[in-house]
Amino acid sequence: MLHSRPSSTALNYYSAYYCPVCRHGEIATLPLMEAFSCSFCRHIFTANLDKQAITIVDSQLPLTWYWTGKRWQTIRSVTRFQWGYRFLALAFVILPTLIVAAGAYLFPVLPNSPLAWFPWFWVGLTFFCHLSCLLWLVLEYYQFPLSLYFEALRNNLVSYLFSSSN
Ligand SMILES: [Zn+2]
Repeated sequence: MLHSRPSSTALNYYSAYYCPVCRHGEIATLPLMEAFSCSFCRHIFTANLDKQAITIVDSQLPLTWYWTGKRWQTIRSVTRFQWGYRFLALAFVILPTLIVAAGAYLFPVLPNSPLAWFPWFWVGLTFFCHLSCLLWLVLEYYQFPLSLYFEALRNNLVSYLFSSSN
């Protein structure tokens, strides 16, 4: 549905742009509305053409992106906001893992005991559980359509395999 216009145009209601959320679909104007909708993740955005910005309206936080002519750019306050969250997210994954690893290192089990592998298995499990919690939160926050994404990947792979076999 991408219109055959150069991608380095100003933000307007007649062109389609890549989606700043999923970076996979295209956002285009909804019929009879001054709003954009993504063809892939189905998020809806309102546009401020004077500021060349779009704001997501169906998310918990009203994230805004500016159109530079070629790509989307987040506003600085959002970026600074996200650095704090990135630090917290890193601490959420690393701190519990370090605490459990310190326990396994400082109080080692006897090497010939049947469950000698268990403390380090627990360290790995702690890491992966906290990492999966974090990934789940990120996917929920952006309301990223994971199943649609995998379906699109599968379709791309199938069409690639089909075209290469011919
Ligand atoms: Zn999207």
